[in-house]
Formats: sequence, C-alpha cells, structure tokens
Amino acid sequence: MDIPASTNLSRRTAIKLAAAIAFLSSCTPTKKQSDKHVAVIGGGIIGASIAYHLAKEGVHVTLIEKDDLCTQASRGTFAWINATWAKQPRHYHAFNQNGLTGWRRVQSELEIPVRWQGSLEWFSSVDRQNKLINQIDEQIAWGEPAQMIGQDKLKSLEPNVIFGTVDQAAYSPNDGAVDPVLATIKFIEAAKSMGAVIKTNCSVDSVKQLKNGQSELSTTAGDLVVDHYVIATGANPEAPQHLAGVTIPQRSTPGVIALSKPHKRLINRIIVAPGVHIHQRDDGRIVLGEQAGAPQTQAHNERLMHRPNQFPSEEYARQHGQRILHIAEQFVPQMSNVEIENVYIGWRPLPIDGHPVIGRSQAQPNAYLAIMHSGVSLAPIVGELAAKEIALGIEAKNLNKYRPDRSFKTIKRY
Ligand SMILES: Cc1cc2nc3c(=O)[nH]c(=O)nc-3n(C[C@H](O)[C@H](O)[C@H](O)COP(=O)(O)OP(=O)(O)OC[C@H]3O[C@@H](n4cnc5c(N)ncnc54)[C@H](O)[C@@H]3O)c2cc1C
Repeated sequence: MDIPASTNLSRRTAIKLAAAIAFLSSCTPTKKQSDKHVAVIGGGIIGASIAYHLAKEGVHVTLIEKDDLCTQASRGTFAWINATWAKQPRHYHAFNQNGLTGWRRVQSELEIPVRWQGSLEWFSSVDRQNKLINQIDEQIAWGEPAQMIGQDKLKSLEPNVIFGTVDQAAYSPNDGAVDPVLATIKFIEAAKSMGAVIKTNCSVDSVKQLKNGQSELSTTAGDLVVDHYVIATGANPEAPQHLAGVTIPQRSTPGVIALSKPHKRLINRIIVAPGVHIHQRDDGRIVLGEQAGAPQTQAHNERLMHRPNQFPSEEYARQHGQRILHIAEQFVPQMSNVEIENVYIGWRPLPIDGHPVIGRSQAQPNAYLAIMHSGVSLAPIVGELAAKEIALGIEAKNLNKYRPDRSFKTIKRY
C-alpha cells in the first residue's frame, strides 16, 4: 500500500496502518460467497490452513475437532520449516520449497511470526558427514542456497554452540521455525472472521452418502449435511478408512518435544546436532526435539502400543525433558540453567512412503484427504492448493504424486 507523501502520519503509524489493512483484506473472502458447504475434520495446522484458504475462496466452512485445537501432532512438533536434503526425491523437495514460499505469503497475510534464521546441521560420524557434503551439492543443484561452512564461520554465526571435532556443517539459510500453536490459531481466527464455524470437543464418527449427492456427517454434536468434507485427522489410523473408505498405510512414530521457559537468547538458528534438534523462538522459549527416540525398553514399548500423547505422570514427563536437555547441553553448555516448562509426545502422521496424501477419495468423491508428515513446512501450500481443488475444481498438477489411490512403497525415513 502506498502512503501519500502529504499525510501527517508518522512513518511507524503508516506502516502499522498498512499492515492492518493488509491483514483485514486477507480476511475478506476473495471470491463471492458460494453455496458450497465444506466440513474440515481435524483442528491441527493442516485442517486450520485448509479452513482458512477455503473461507478465502468464499466457501461456507465448518471445522470439527474432537479435542481442543492443536493438541496432537501440531503441538508436539519441532516446527522446522525446511526443504533440506531429507526431502526426497526432487518433486517432494520442490513441493517443500513451495511450502517455504507459502509461509512467506501467510506470514504477511496473517502476521504470523516466522523466524527465518536458517539451520546448521552436522553428524558425528565421518561417513555420514561425507554423505552430507554430497547431499548439499544436490541441494545446490536443486536451487537451495545451502553450503558447507567451516568452524570460523560457524563460531561467528553461533558463538554459544560447540560444534565438536567436525570441520564443517551444512548451512541452509532459507529455513525457518514457527510457533505451530500460534500459527494454527491465526489460521482459525482468520477463517472465523470470514464466517467459518469452529466446533471443538466434537468428533465425526461416521459419514452417510445421501441420494442428492451430499454427505451427512454424524458427529457427537448432531448430524451435519455438507457438499464435501476434508479428512485432516493426522495420525488417527482409522479415520481415512472409516470416513472415506480408503486405506492409507501409515507408520506413525512418536517423538518427544520439550519446551523451555523463556530464556535469554542462546542460539539464533535451528541447530540440528547429533541426537537433538534445537531452536529458540522469539518469545525466548527453547524447543528441543530428540532424534533417536526414547530408549527401547519393554516398559516403553508396552506404553507406546496405546499411542499416548501424554506421559503417565508429571515425573515421567520431567525425566524425558531432562534427558533431552542433557543431550542439548553437550552442544550448548549454557543450557544447563534452562528450565523445561512442558514436554509433549507427538505422533507423526506418516504415510509409509514418507510422502503426503492429498486429494479426493476414489471410494467417496465428496471426501478429500490431507494427511502428512512435514505438515508444518507444507501447511500453507497444502491449504492453498486443496482449497482451489475443492472450491474451484482446479486440479493442482503438483499434487499428482500424492494422491490417495497411488500404490504405497515402504520407505523408512523418520
Ligand atoms: C515429534 C515431531 C516432530 C515434527 N517435526 C516437524 C518439523 O520440524 N517440521 C515439519 O514440517 N513437520 C514436523 N512434524 C510433522 C508435523 O508436525 C505434522 O505433519 C503436522 O503437525 C500434521 O498436522 P495435522 O493437522 O495433519 O495433524 P494433527 O495436528 O494431529 O491434527 C489432526 C487433528 O484431527 C483430530 N481428529 C482426528 N480424528 C478426528 C475425528 N474423527 N473427528 C474430529 N477430529 C478428529 C485430532 O484430534 C487432531 O487434533 C513433526 C511431527 C512430530 C510428531
């Protein structure tokens, strides 16, 4: 927005005003209100982004979440926005690059704070480090500004981090990190301001196909008749089969995320060190994610069979938080006085080939599936493309590799 030179507003007020106008215009449906009614099942970051983008297309949206908003994978996530070497093959890498572009768009549309400071990654084994060097060459060939950098540069970027004996680490300056709960709430608030209805503590239990072509969702708060419904139910293993007649082979794995109390700034970038991932948010909270997973004991395995998202007691949560904090202290010794505030268990919604499942169900064409890992990196682009497919019938060709009816090959990644 251009501010006229003759105005009496200070530059700061003018910038604030321009931001407020940009926000308000992003919360106005870009299209005339349509008659279509779409239910979005699942109030994590994927369902929230799809609801926002559908509302922008003028669709009448009802989002239904069985718990509170953002209590599952989208809370127990490390929330690193990236298109790094692990995003294979090239089409999936390119899709994640679109994810980063999408975040820059929604960041300005909805004023979502994203910390774009890049990431630093290295391994302890020489063989793995050599492989990383090749992977960074591939990243460069695929358009990433990634590079291997030596100890002097590493120290100047992160003076509080000990990089050990490695002589270089991978620097990916395009990466960012976000507070996923805040981002989900921002999507939801914007969707609501455009007329979306949000129902929490309400579960969709079954779906009936009606003769007039619509679908009737049976929910714990009564029946709802819609034209389409989106299954953004994360790692819930039964939902796709139960609600859309599609089997999505998933290999959900748990991860533990520890969140500290606010602390003075210790690190600037996302640190992907051997055994632990670390970043520090703008509010000072440090986010710690384990890489190896909890120790494989019989007691752990038995507990995990029931896919808990909470620890059996506060003491267990504390112990896991301290376990991860101690790994992080090897790399950032000043973290010894960091206090852990919360520890979460997140279950990755992970189709067995490691790629997203996005698109209509062949068995039930009113159903649209959106189930994926890297859902934080992908939320804005998935929301945008899914909304265009559902609301306007515009097929997004870059989703063709991720359709629910593909044949799934097992690829072990996480
Ligand atoms: C430990 C961990 C680390 C991760 N790190 C990263 C990372 O660094 N970067 C990245 O991009 N991604 C990361 N991910 C993946 C990312 O967090 C997920 O892909 C993303 O959060 C998925 O969002 P979602 O909305 O699909 O799922 P969820 O957040 O799980 O939301 C699904 C919702 O559906 C609801 N639901 C289920 N069934 C029903 C029903 N029948 N009726 C109503 N509601 C229902 C659930 O209650 C839930 O709230 C990580 C995940 C984990 C677990």
